[in-house]
Amino acid sequence: VKVLLAQLSEVLEGTIEGKYAIPAFNVYGYEDAKPIVEAAEELQVPVILATNIVALEYMPMSTLSKILIDMAEKSSVPVVVHLDHGKDYNTIVQALYCGYSSVMYDGSQLPLEQNIKNTKEIVKLAKSLGISVEGEIGSVGYSDPNLGIKGFFTDPNETRIFFEETGVDAVAVSVGTVHRMEKQTANIDFNLIEEIEKVIPVPLVMHGSTGIPNRDLQKIAKTKFGKVNIGTAIRQAFGYKLRDEMNKNPEIYDRLELFKEPMKTIKNVALEKMKLLNLENYHSIKVNEEVYK
Ligand SMILES: [Zn+2]
Repeated sequence: VKVLLAQLSEVLEGTIEGKYAIPAFNVYGYEDAKPIVEAAEELQVPVILATNIVALEYMPMSTLSKILIDMAEKSSVPVVVHLDHGKDYNTIVQALYCGYSSVMYDGSQLPLEQNIKNTKEIVKLAKSLGISVEGEIGSVGYSDPNLGIKGFFTDPNETRIFFEETGVDAVAVSVGTVHRMEKQTANIDFNLIEEIEKVIPVPLVMHGSTGIPNRDLQKIAKTKFGKVNIGTAIRQAFGYKLRDEMNKNPEIYDRLELFKEPMKTIKNVALEKMKLLNLENYHSIKVNEEVYK
């Protein structure tokens, strides 16, 4: 495996100081990935393109990864191509084979010991290829109860044990969000975040961040959260705008025409989230680092 893309641990390195956080957007193809990379290029900041299970039910990993990796390689900013919620060893191996520069192993539904054991195996494999690993402790649930994934808050002590045993590069924790929320009504437990921060020296990962109110996103960027996952907000931006376009222009049948405005809307949403996560600080920090060298 040739590692050409930006590594998760690389782009998250600067986030631990609490000056900014980097969004990881769940994308499903060209139409959403392209405007997100454009947003990152406009601000000249890193971004993470994430592939989740839903995307892989739609398109084979070998196809989607080629689109995303090609875009990442051509980009003028660091773009991490990340596998989101890898549930088993084979999926992770497939992602590494396809060239993902970062993988998440999600053993959150397993007992702590089993989660640690499995995550350790993934870390050993991925690290041998120079690839970063995100693990999960506690569980961010889903707004749809039929999915059968139970959510529960992260225990700081378990998080410490999990990190020390596995050596993951980033830790996903559950502190009040739920996946696929349609409104920004999540109730974030900032006291719990403080407790977790005391025991974890690596960047934290927030899942289900569409549901986080803007003012709390800004607060989260100031904590050890370095990676903030956003999926639904992007899907909403595209879907609602597409419906608008079709209603306004009933005579247009060409998807290339119909996708133009929805793609612009995605870029705007990506820019808005990047700004809320204080990513504009990215440059001042880089400049300072160079001054002190
Ligand atoms: Zn997630």
